[in-house]
Amino acid sequence: MLYKDFKGMSLSALGMGCMRFPCDANKNVDMAATAEMIDVCLQNGVNYFDTAWFYHGGRSESIMGELLSKYPRESYYLATKLPGHEYKSREEVAARFDEQLRRTRAGYFDFYLLHNVCEDNVGIFTDPALGIADFLREQKAAGKIRHLGISTHGSLALMEEFISAHRDIVEFCQIQLNWLDWTLQDAKAKVELLNRFGIPIWVMEPLRGGKLATLSEEDTSALLAMRPAESIPAWSFRFLQGIPGVTMVLSGMSSLSQVTDNIHTFGTSAPLDAQEQKALFRIADAILAKKTLTCTGCKYCTEDCPMELDIPKLLSLYNKYCLTGGKVRAEAVACEVENGKLPSACVGCRTCESKCPQKIRISEIMSDFADRL
Ligand code: SF4
Ligand code: SF4
Repeated sequence: MLYKDFKGMSLSALGMGCMRFPCDANKNVDMAATAEMIDVCLQNGVNYFDTAWFYHGGRSESIMGELLSKYPRESYYLATKLPGHEYKSREEVAARFDEQLRRTRAGYFDFYLLHNVCEDNVGIFTDPALGIADFLREQKAAGKIRHLGISTHGSLALMEEFISAHRDIVEFCQIQLNWLDWTLQDAKAKVELLNRFGIPIWVMEPLRGGKLATLSEEDTSALLAMRPAESIPAWSFRFLQGIPGVTMVLSGMSSLSQVTDNIHTFGTSAPLDAQEQKALFRIADAILAKKTLTCTGCKYCTEDCPMELDIPKLLSLYNKYCLTGGKVRAEAVACEVENGKLPSACVGCRTCESKCPQKIRISEIMSDFADRL
């Protein structure tokens, strides 16, 4: 396992994202499979686990508490995040933090982030009446937090403004970074910004929710010809190994085979050369030219949908519909989606859109999809 130094801590270059554990059809986490994945991570040197209040419908923190409690506390690093909710008071912020400590059984957090600082919630994080930044500084002084940072899907301008005003609580910054988002989500400019501030980069969505793990036959052959021994997912990680400032790569692994593959990849550093990078960017251009939706399957949008629609699934079907020129027929969609949960059930409330880090205009897509079907 490769390691990176962060302020004297030796962090595994690969961290486990805790929002995509294996689940059954009812969305219950398969605890035995998840425990095995975590055991294999720790046995092979992965020492960083990234959870959050919301992951797995609010279960992820407790799951990590349960599964990590058999290990000595100093043998792993745990990160979690303060959600940007409507808090009514400082007491409510403190109560949320205490509940996170209770859920994770961690005693303290090695890394604590403001969750997705973006245009929609920055006002909550900076509200003087709530005093969130001061609260976090106090927790750090009290030893309940070792390092503070932010995750963000916000714009470049917002990132610059927030970091300039709160530099001391942005010891590290977690961004969506991969070869497709290099241009799509301004990741290149965000990397340059963080490098300018001297802030280490934590990477989320290195494979875009698994979407970059499988490419077309033609693209797969082209990449295999350049690196015969490398898998397609490994290309995304090799890309990141060449990006200055990248300290932590978080992968939301969903199976033991993904864990072992990723551990194998992170046994060596083999960044892409300029020609190999170009090959990936050519593939990215072709993907973006098809104008399909860039849903990562994170499911943030589904929690408060009044119609309980499986939004990522519907968007995936919409992509298929568009890519096949409408060959995915209405009957096929009806077979894949529960009765009453078709795009036509969307009431256009747009609750989901404020939650979507990819800024997808979900209500418009649902309406368009319903019309086309
Ligand atoms: S806009 Fe449609 S998909 Fe989004 S939350 Fe409302 S009903 Fe659900
Ligand atoms: S639509 Fe947005 S929030 Fe919902 S799963 Fe896709 S990327 Fe995540």
